[in-house]
Amino acid sequence: MRMGEFASINKMIDLSGKRGIVTGGFKGIGKAITARLIECGAKVVVADSDPLINDCPNTDNIIFQYCDVTDEANLVSAITSSTGDQGLDFLVNNAGIFPTTGPIEDVADDFVSRMLEVNVRAQYSASREAARYLQRGGSIVNIASIAALRGGANISAYSTSKAAIIGLTQSFAQELGAKGIRVNAIAPGIIDTPGVQDQLGPLKEGGLDIESAIASNPLRLTGAPDYIARAAIFLISDLAAFISGHTLVVDGGSTA
Ligand code: NAP
Repeated sequence: MRMGEFASINKMIDLSGKRGIVTGGFKGIGKAITARLIECGAKVVVADSDPLINDCPNTDNIIFQYCDVTDEANLVSAITSSTGDQGLDFLVNNAGIFPTTGPIEDVADDFVSRMLEVNVRAQYSASREAARYLQRGGSIVNIASIAALRGGANISAYSTSKAAIIGLTQSFAQELGAKGIRVNAIAPGIIDTPGVQDQLGPLKEGGLDIESAIASNPLRLTGAPDYIARAAIFLISDLAAFISGHTLVVDGGSTA
């Protein structure tokens, strides 16, 4: 074995000195990713449109910045806040919306446009702007969904938006690869977040057992945000140094 030429595994997930941004990092999956990034030694700008973010005190490792990712000025400001002298090391495109879509015949164009604006156009813009600062060895992680892989009834606008993220990921990976920047996506299964609780809450009255729904995967595990965070750390770190353009499914086996 020729292990000596590579760093130890512990060293590979040591993100000390790395700087980056997590969009939608104030709650849910983005919050879990931010926590793991901090644990690994990174400095993170949390860019989120929840107004409560303005009440969060910054620390040495986290800057909380109000940012609606659909607003280009907000986005550029958040990205430049996260760059150090050496530039940027990672971008996690996590901010997304998933209002109930409903039957296709009831889905209006402006609803579809809004879904694409937040879930696709903003991820595209964030990646383009971040790419100006990302240095060699940098990493972009886009949060897609298993809805991108198999669609579903009543989620047509959402699954359309998330399927686009896979194409975005593959094209950016090919173009930015020459600069040593890796671009990957994660396709989460159902994860217990404030956003999902808001979605499923009203169905409780109709008899839905939310806890069972969130654990309805072959592993029978409750989909915790931390499972997605672990995958994000893997993709950002040197463990994934030879992985780019990939969509990593993290769903407890749901799509198997
Ligand atoms: P969440 O609990 O709703 O948290 C999302 C965060 O993003 C919130 O703080 C939200 O703020 C913020 N956000 C929304 N729109 C934004 C915008 N325009 N600019 C900046 N921030 C914005 O959602 P989540 O469940 O953690 O989902 C995170 C990502 O994972 C999304 O892309 C989602 O599609 C994807 N995903 C989730 C699941 C799941 O089961 N949870 C499964 C597959 C994929 P506000 O609350 O103030 O809007």
